[in-house]
Amino acid sequence: MKMAKPPERKQWEGNYSEWFHRVLQEVPVYDVRYPVKGTGIWMPFGFKIRKGVTQIIRDELEKTGHEEVLFPLLIPDYMLGKEGEHIKNFEDEVYWVTHGGKTPLDVKLALRPTSETAIYPMFQLWINAYSDLPMKIFQIANVFRYETKATRPMIRVREVSTFKEAHTAHATREEAEAQVNQGIEVYSAVFNQLKLPYVKSRRPEWDKFPGAEYTIAFDTVLPDGKVLQIGTVHELGQGFAKAFDIKYMKADGNYEHVWQTCYGISERAIAALISIHGDDNGLVLPSVVAPIQAAVVPIVFKGKEEEVTKKCHELRDMLTTAGMRAVVDDRKEVTPGSKYFTWEMRGAPVRIDLGPRDLEEGTAVIVRRDNLEKTTVRIESVVGEVKRIMAELDRNLKKRSSDWMSARINGATSIDEVKSILNKQGGIVEATWCGDRGCGEDLEAKVDARILGTPYGDDEGFSSGSGCINCGVAAESTIRIARSY
Ligand code: ZN
Repeated sequence: MKMAKPPERKQWEGNYSEWFHRVLQEVPVYDVRYPVKGTGIWMPFGFKIRKGVTQIIRDELEKTGHEEVLFPLLIPDYMLGKEGEHIKNFEDEVYWVTHGGKTPLDVKLALRPTSETAIYPMFQLWINAYSDLPMKIFQIANVFRYETKATRPMIRVREVSTFKEAHTAHATREEAEAQVNQGIEVYSAVFNQLKLPYVKSRRPEWDKFPGAEYTIAFDTVLPDGKVLQIGTVHELGQGFAKAFDIKYMKADGNYEHVWQTCYGISERAIAALISIHGDDNGLVLPSVVAPIQAAVVPIVFKGKEEEVTKKCHELRDMLTTAGMRAVVDDRKEVTPGSKYFTWEMRGAPVRIDLGPRDLEEGTAVIVRRDNLEKTTVRIESVVGEVKRIMAELDRNLKKRSSDWMSARINGATSIDEVKSILNKQGGIVEATWCGDRGCGEDLEAKVDARILGTPYGDDEGFSSGSGCINCGVAAESTIRIARSY
């Protein structure tokens, strides 16, 4: 038996910002009331989601030969300033430690805004011979940036609490280039597991990571139509290696600077996970990161409480034995309705209801979170059915989010068309462009949006066959334009 009632997604799209804050608070995922602006607290349920996501990231990195490390939070000022372009970009955002107790420090210490300048002096000590390469490390740590724009939980914060940064060093440019592709593959694998849609763009020259040769970024579209950058991969060339004098000895006895890459991902990926899959009833989570995959709810009537609750615990044990994360919600004095609310809000992929009549008939009712479809199944086949339904939910989340994003990537052939699309539904607009920086910046000002860059890899871009959308000269490439966080 099946009954479907599609959940409301209205508020999710119509007033996304309010929805996001409400979900973070009600689940609760993240508490923003800590009295330091731009920081927040991962609450127990939110922390479990975070742990699920970081585990996927760790697994993908370790599978591809990256090793986890942990560097100090503090960076001496002379180290932070070593790579000229890099520091220029970060200097207005750095928090400084200037005192130890009442004593002024001889050397000011920065709270890391990112860790290139903490890690590369150590690379200089660790790398001597060809056999030390490639070096591939990563850490998951917090970084601090004094954001002057309005802060937003997980999206624009002053303490990025969950910053995964990978840093690699190689003997040749070709190996570094190959590493950029591996970084892209790792992130694609992470986002695919989270069922998150994305496009990959090569950022324009003026928007690449400071100190990098080029930057490839992953962008997604949030429910309000604004674009969120959820991951970046940078080819650093030899710039940092020269600034920090990281060299290895070649076979001929001469020394050469290493070639480097770095790539980052943060809790923005979790903000996207929550925002893109959610609906008016709260979180909708892919099974891989759902802290609770199946919540068993006893429907008790007087006289049958004990039997029903006992059966629910048996069901829970069957599920946990099969490797699933399951609980019985046997809270007293709480109505089944409130329990449904709890598990919908928390995004459990399935809920299993069991009442006295089900008990007599040897059945249970499985309710699937993404479409609230109910399926009545025999108790002995619950494990198999839950697995099947979770797999269907995962496929649906992937399809639903991809379709939703695809509908928000449009081509345009005039400035007015770009503006009209961005005003109406946001998302990403693709157009042809001459490649000139001045023209690009002029275009950004005209449409009050940002150039995300050119499509990268197997991403196909829009092509109109005519000239640059802004200046009309022969077009060099396709660009993506969006309003972004
Ligand atoms: Zn142009």
